[in-house]
Amino acid sequence: MSKTFAKDFLKRGSWNVICDRCGFKFKGEELQREWQGYMVCETCYEPRHPQDFLASKPDQRPKPYYRPEPDPEFVE
Ligand SMILES: [Zn+2]
Repeated sequence: MSKTFAKDFLKRGSWNVICDRCGFKFKGEELQREWQGYMVCETCYEPRHPQDFLASKPDQRPKPYYRPEPDPEFVE
């Protein structure tokens, strides 16, 4: 029996679903929704990286000084 069909047994109140990432068959309650919306098995589940929740602030402090671009120098 291949692994693909390992979940082909009757379980009352459950159903067969395919993991969006590995493609193997699982029972409905074994899958969980990832933050991208994929339904994946426990092995494939990856929580969203905490760095994704950092908010960046635009840098709006005034610059300490400005220097105009120098005039071009021509050698004669
Ligand atoms: Zn999977």
